[in-house]
Amino acid sequence: MNYDSPEADMSFLDKSTGELFQFLEKVDPVSAQRFHPSDRRKIQSKVEIYLRTGRPASELYKEQKESGVDVRWDTLIFWVWSERDALNERLDKRVDKMIEMGVEDECRELYSVAERTKAPVTSGIFQAIGIYLKKLKMLILGYREFVPVIEARAEDDVDALRKEAIQQMKTHTRQYVRSQLSWINNKLIPLCGQQTSRTPIYILNATDPTTWTTKVLRPALSIVQGPPPSLFPHLTLAFQNGAELPSPSTIFDRADELLNPTRKISPPDEWKHWLCELCKDRKNSAGFVVVGGDAEWNAHLQTRVHRNRLRRLKKKEAFDEWKAKQQQHIQKE
Ligand SMILES: [Zn+2]
Repeated sequence: MNYDSPEADMSFLDKSTGELFQFLEKVDPVSAQRFHPSDRRKIQSKVEIYLRTGRPASELYKEQKESGVDVRWDTLIFWVWSERDALNERLDKRVDKMIEMGVEDECRELYSVAERTKAPVTSGIFQAIGIYLKKLKMLILGYREFVPVIEARAEDDVDALRKEAIQQMKTHTRQYVRSQLSWINNKLIPLCGQQTSRTPIYILNATDPTTWTTKVLRPALSIVQGPPPSLFPHLTLAFQNGAELPSPSTIFDRADELLNPTRKISPPDEWKHWLCELCKDRKNSAGFVVVGGDAEWNAHLQTRVHRNRLRRLKKKEAFDEWKAKQQQHIQKE
């Protein structure tokens, strides 16, 4: 096939991830450096862009970025924020409440639907069941965890299984929230920062539920209620009237720090592949690849996984050293 032809055959996209990656390295080295060599979905989509347009995706994005990201409407964004401990506690309570409200029965129901339709329990069939749509996300978070409870045999300790399922549900809920937070930090905030006037973002502190009205509700209301507006910053009202908006730190004193994270993100055109020999990939024993610039690599070195591995290695080295000495000692005697 002619690699330079924009009218290329799309069946090329069915090739192996390795072949697609090699091709991408040739035609769009900047993009290739940004993705993990086994991230098929992303590699495939960049190759597809190249095949369709005849131009590297990285070049197209650069042009787009220079012309500015466009929002159709002026948008006032509220980030209803909580301190981590309070948030985690709230998330755990939310799971407990879901249990109380009978999430296990709903899981059983879904399970029996899955059995009747012979669909795998995690399949898309559930997306077609309208009645569950609203609760789908919530259920998906809890569903898989409850399968062992549902499938328990008479001799199993159902209470222990249930306890385990609830614990897992809590863990997965926290993980889900963490991924939402990193989306806010890594995508939303940098994007808003580029166009402050059209997409102001305010943090409303919801840590303490007793101050919900003054710290969250009132600033976000679009109609004036209660005391005169001068007593509370009515952000939505001011925004709608085109009035000058106060600095986010007047609404919440940690706003500056949270909206200007100190963790730097390297410019994507500086990204490359870093190989961490320590953090071995489960799939690929050659090592763990970090995609990014200096900042991302340094961030990896600070991750819990990496530091734990380092600590274990040091422990092992110290132990080996001690053992070797012991042996020498024994030999001497
Ligand atoms: Zn590592």
